[in-house]
Amino acid sequence: GRAHIGVTGLAVMGSNIARNFARRGHTVAVHNRSRAKTDALIDTYGHEGDFVPAGTIEEFLDALQTPRRVLVMVQAGAATDAVINELADNMDAGDIIIDGGNSLYTDTIRREAAMRERGLHFVGAGISGGEEGALNGPSIMPGGPAESYRHLGPLLESISAHVDGEPCCTHVGPDGSGHFVKMVHNGIEYADMQLIGEAFDLMRTALGMPIAEIGEVFRQWNSGDLESYLVEITAEVLGQVDTRTGRPLVEMIVDSAGQKGTGRWTVKSALDLGVPTTGIAEAVFARALSSATDQRERARELQGGATTAAPVDTAEFIAAINEALYASKVVAYAQGFDQIVAGSREYGWDIAPGDLATIWRGGCIIRATFLDRIKEAYAEDPDLPSLLLAPYFRAAVEDAVDSWRRVVSTATLTGVPVPAFSSSLSYYDALRAERLPAALTQGLRDYFGAHTYRRVDMEGDFHTLWGGDRSEQRV
Ligand code: NDP
Repeated sequence: GRAHIGVTGLAVMGSNIARNFARRGHTVAVHNRSRAKTDALIDTYGHEGDFVPAGTIEEFLDALQTPRRVLVMVQAGAATDAVINELADNMDAGDIIIDGGNSLYTDTIRREAAMRERGLHFVGAGISGGEEGALNGPSIMPGGPAESYRHLGPLLESISAHVDGEPCCTHVGPDGSGHFVKMVHNGIEYADMQLIGEAFDLMRTALGMPIAEIGEVFRQWNSGDLESYLVEITAEVLGQVDTRTGRPLVEMIVDSAGQKGTGRWTVKSALDLGVPTTGIAEAVFARALSSATDQRERARELQGGATTAAPVDTAEFIAAINEALYASKVVAYAQGFDQIVAGSREYGWDIAPGDLATIWRGGCIIRATFLDRIKEAYAEDPDLPSLLLAPYFRAAVEDAVDSWRRVVSTATLTGVPVPAFSSSLSYYDALRAERLPAALTQGLRDYFGAHTYRRVDMEGDFHTLWGGDRSEQRV
């Protein structure tokens, strides 16, 4: 065989990644379950590089140099299992299967163990950046055995995005770690989009601004601290005029948000790990609420009470929204990184959070100037207890907190829902609180369930005889 790598699954993602490999000078074997996609790729883009089209798995594997490297880009779930098993049946010890789809990390842990048993290397690689990233340089998060990265790293790094000369691809850790961090990346993307949506809603509803003007505000924000791909494309989407009606397109789009599952997975994992990833959870639930269309239809008749008028100084309030958005975003990322650290500890992955900030600076959907600051924060202190405690972010959030409170209270008074802004602020206040009402929770738990509590002034577990003489016992 002469191909450096094979790609099977030539839908949007697979065909663009195959072209990316070919354009970087690699010989790429290409395969798809149904032949039509393979032929279409060769017909349209065959001239871009050195492709070896294959009709069957056997032909496909024969075309590859050994150890064989095969990137699987098919639908996550059962399809991925079917393709992996078919490949494994026809591969030799030492060959490498890379799953580049959005697989659930626990599936990746299971598949890696099964492939290892068969003498194969299995690399679950998170790939972010959508269609455009796949073609021009995605952010790649490969897990799996460190040894396989030696065979694979240079190849993957050559097609990834680069920032300041550094590839947006690094070995994340063993087995499912790559898909785990990709999942949290997607969760952070949900939170980011929800926060942007809330900022937009405040300008539209509380300030009554025309959509085009709001788009202009986001365009300006994109040259400041908030500079990011998502803020950039927010300006683009808000600037789009509907060709049918001449109105802003966003007003013609049904306000019910879809989801494919990675946000939900992140929140489930956060619950299992006991990490308060509230920003991502609010974002997932906000999409669910938006999609509860029948319930919303009936609930439109509910009265909102005496909501107050919009703030008078529009420019000043827009600046406050910018600060609230920034501070809430810091919280969402702090929580996401906490979840990664917790997952890493739970599964023994030894993930370096700073490496992720580095590879998320380019290629992926959450790419932002902001990630440079996160990279620096972890470089200064790899064991940072929270991003909120990194000097740069601490100063930024402390500067923003007055505006943040004003935005959340104004939203409340004007009746604009801001679940992510407000829960992020509550998270911040809870995290820095001297005392939390959890002491009362413990008292209640001890009252009805004898769950015991600890005291601030002495060691041990205690129980009060609530139903008796109310004396306290050490247990
Ligand atoms: P799809 O998720 O739509 O999957 C379609 C591909 O899967 C086709 O090539 C199809 O083959 C193949 N397929 C489906 N079932 C089987 C099966 N049983 N056996 C063999 N092949 C099968 O493709 P996308 O390109 O959108 O996504 C690929 C992967 O990348 C997915 O896991 C997805 O979640 C992930 N993804 C990642 C994105 C990102 O930004 N990182 C964006 C989009 C997707 P056929 O043509 O024969 O039907």
